[in-house]
Amino acid sequence: MSRTWLQRLQHSIAVNDALALAVARENLRRLYFAAAFAVAFDLIHILVFWLNLQGSTPEYDDWRLDIITIHATVAVLFSGLGLPAWLASRSQHTTPLWFMNLLSILASAILLGFGIAITGADQQVTSSITPFLMASVGAALIILTRPRHAITLYILALGAFEVTMTLTQTTPELRLSNQMGGLTICGIGLILSLILWHGHVRNLRQREFLRQQRLELEEKNRQLEYLAGHDPLTGLFNRRQFDQLVGMELSRVSRQPAPVSLLMVDLDHFKFINDRYGHPLGDEVIRHAASLLRNYTRSGDSVARLGGEEFLLLLPDAGHAQAHSIAEKIRKLLEETPLPMKDGLLYLTASFGIATLEAGIPSTYELLYAAADKALYRAKASGRNRVEVIEVGAQMGTFD
Ligand code: GH3
Ligand code: MG
Ligand code: MG
Repeated sequence: MSRTWLQRLQHSIAVNDALALAVARENLRRLYFAAAFAVAFDLIHILVFWLNLQGSTPEYDDWRLDIITIHATVAVLFSGLGLPAWLASRSQHTTPLWFMNLLSILASAILLGFGIAITGADQQVTSSITPFLMASVGAALIILTRPRHAITLYILALGAFEVTMTLTQTTPELRLSNQMGGLTICGIGLILSLILWHGHVRNLRQREFLRQQRLELEEKNRQLEYLAGHDPLTGLFNRRQFDQLVGMELSRVSRQPAPVSLLMVDLDHFKFINDRYGHPLGDEVIRHAASLLRNYTRSGDSVARLGGEEFLLLLPDAGHAQAHSIAEKIRKLLEETPLPMKDGLLYLTASFGIATLEAGIPSTYELLYAAADKALYRAKASGRNRVEVIEVGAQMGTFD
């Protein structure tokens, strides 16, 4: 056996192991339907042969009785198998795999044994081996059997069939013909079983592949959605997402009387930081300021990076006093949290411009934005590292 063959075999075994549970569940579903059908089929045969007993050919009554006995036995066996299969299929997640596999193998064995027994009994009246053919094909069609189990099953069935023919067919030529026919039937059953197994495994793998692709696509969509609404440097909302949030908040404010504040933050003398330490360290400083803003605002507040070293905060339900105290707290924290640089500590400051819309006053985002920008300009002009507030007036478009 060449190395590639061995590898292919190992790969097939690994695939079969991985799909064992899915196949076992599929078999359970098929099994209890098949068992119900088999029991009904047996009962009809028992009834017909029973009515035929003591018929016009009493010398064949032994044969009729044998057939009735075989059908009755198989009906009992399939009832005994159908019930646990039904129960197991209802509690698939707790039923052990070996038990599900055992039920499937038993079902195939009963079906093949049934074909052999009926064919053996039939030898009293005919040399036909059709029942064995039907059982062999039926077992392959109904139960998905793992190749190594199928090979064992069909080899055992062939052995049992050959012995049965030796015992039941007395004419040597017919016996030989039937025994060779049995070999062909087992070959057909085995090949059919292997083909159906591989077809089903391919289907399951394709389904699994599609499921994986769908999961990956959903994950990519989530990532894209995140990227579309967030700033890659800081993880804060970007301008696009922030604009949407403000729009929603303003429409909420117009329905229920609650104040809202827009806070604009700009780091002081940032150009100097970039020039002195370079852009990568400048980025670190922006991240530091961003995490401070995120950590020291309330959970309902939205924080966005406007670009560069400028940030926008939306503070719902915050009037000018509350917005001022939040901004003041952040300003102090920033000032008191220096960053260690190679040449010593870097003290960072920022200027804050607040626009507040008190409860019940209609306004637009543009107006609030312009007011916050103006307040920030004032903070810069008054020496930086400070907070300025502008209250948007009752008349649309007014603030001082
Ligand atoms: P002011 O106190 O008046 O705000 O002074 P400033 O130096 O901070 O002035 P300004 O706001 O005009 O400068 C912002 C600088 O931020 C200019 C630009 O090079 C830099 N910048 C913009 N985006 C980024 C970025 O993503 N990373 C880094 N490191 N720097 C950026
Ligand atoms: Mg700036
Ligand atoms: Mg600046």
